Amino acid sequence: MMLFTTNWLATFFSEFRGKVTDSIHIKSVVTDSRKPGRQSLFVPLAGENFDGHDYLEQAVHNGAVAALWEKKKPLPAFLPTDFPVFFVSDTLTSLQQLAAAYRRRVNPLVIGITGSNGKTTTKDLVSAVVGKKYRTHFTKGNFNNHIGLPLTILSMPDHTEALVLEMGMNHFGEIDVLTKIAAPDFAIITNIGEAHIEFLGSRAGIAKAKLEIIHGLKKQGVFIYDGDEPLLQLKNYVHRTITCGFNTENDMVIRNTSIHEQQTTFQLSDENSYRIPLLGRHHAQNATYAITIGLELGIRPADIQDAFDKLHLTGMRFEMLPGKNGATIVNDAYNASPSAMRASIEVVKQLENYDEKVLVLGDMFELGDAAEKWHRQVAESIQAPITAVFTFGKDAQYISSEVKKRTPEIINMHFETKEALTEKLSEVLRPNMIVLFKASRGMHFESIVKELLDAT
Ligand code: ATP
Ligand code: MG
Repeated sequence: MMLFTTNWLATFFSEFRGKVTDSIHIKSVVTDSRKPGRQSLFVPLAGENFDGHDYLEQAVHNGAVAALWEKKKPLPAFLPTDFPVFFVSDTLTSLQQLAAAYRRRVNPLVIGITGSNGKTTTKDLVSAVVGKKYRTHFTKGNFNNHIGLPLTILSMPDHTEALVLEMGMNHFGEIDVLTKIAAPDFAIITNIGEAHIEFLGSRAGIAKAKLEIIHGLKKQGVFIYDGDEPLLQLKNYVHRTITCGFNTENDMVIRNTSIHEQQTTFQLSDENSYRIPLLGRHHAQNATYAITIGLELGIRPADIQDAFDKLHLTGMRFEMLPGKNGATIVNDAYNASPSAMRASIEVVKQLENYDEKVLVLGDMFELGDAAEKWHRQVAESIQAPITAVFTFGKDAQYISSEVKKRTPEIINMHFETKEALTEKLSEVLRPNMIVLFKASRGMHFESIVKELLDAT
């Protein structure tokens, strides 16, 4: 596969040196010089601790056949004079411009997805559905920021027909940049939660930042969003909107959600029923975004269902795994925010077949001054049939102390060390028990999960 030639690069990076021809084929774009990239274009980025410009030699060793280069910086002496180098004022901006230009050239149908929770899951669902009809390229893992999104675009084969992009952010202005690179035909906001409230001030601030996604929406594009969220009402600003949610005023109304051991089933306003291999009402909503796009693109409900049946999901999101002593471990340790934590707790409450339901909860990051309040609020979701709550972390202790007040009948323990928590859990695990692990990524709860999995 070839992305483009150095000649094509020269059409918009006008300052260059070295040999620029149609015979130099670029097959990949890399920013990490350590990564093997046969016939790659190396884009050195300056980070806080390292500057990619210092690693050109390594990049060339690993397969780079051309590079972007910040004008002000001297070129290293080892470089042969015919090696193509394109001089730019800022390599990051140029990477983003290059991604936009390549996206225009390939011209796929673009679906952009943002929201506080459920972006990656929705991306997986949408990609599966759209993949039924189109050659589809999508964000791998969580490559959703100002570097990951351009690199995702620049790894798409040139025959790509549909491109599904996750867009993440921490601050105002970030989605604006991403959506302008992507120019989506469909823009989705999955929901508004509390993640990154530290930087955005309030839930209204979060909504405003996510709504930047419509800045890049194509003129005839469709904006699809959580219609149950009052902060997302802006029908007049875009060509077409489709709202999805549980309230009956939505365009796509989700009804009769039912959660089972391996799947969630629900019905939509078009009278079709769907089942997804994901647990929870919130995932029925994520799937509804994918169904909406599928139907818009003329994909039949039976094919949409088939896509869901064969779903490949990105890991550590509500993975139900066999634990020691016959217990069931739910590894949901990928990340957490208050709404995501509460959504997962609701799923655990609704699952049948368990006599004991244990929550292992840790700190949720980036909640700013209101962190205590948000942690305490989680306790509102904790009552029977939850039987025990174990917490670890400086803010998670507020969950514990609030549970003590509200529902003293629930077993409730706070731990000072992960080791103590792991030891206690190994003692209590037994059959017919389900144990949910949920915390922010940085709490690394997966290390506890690892200790408690059935080794046989
Ligand atoms: P990140 O910001 O880390 O990229 P994300 O938005 O991609 O997260 P996912 O990785 O899909 O989100 O899901 C993270 C967690 O959010 C899930 O484990 C689940 O608990 C929760 N979640 C997913 N969808 C929703 C939703 N619609 N409402 C509330 N919580 C949700
Ligand atoms: Mg994600």
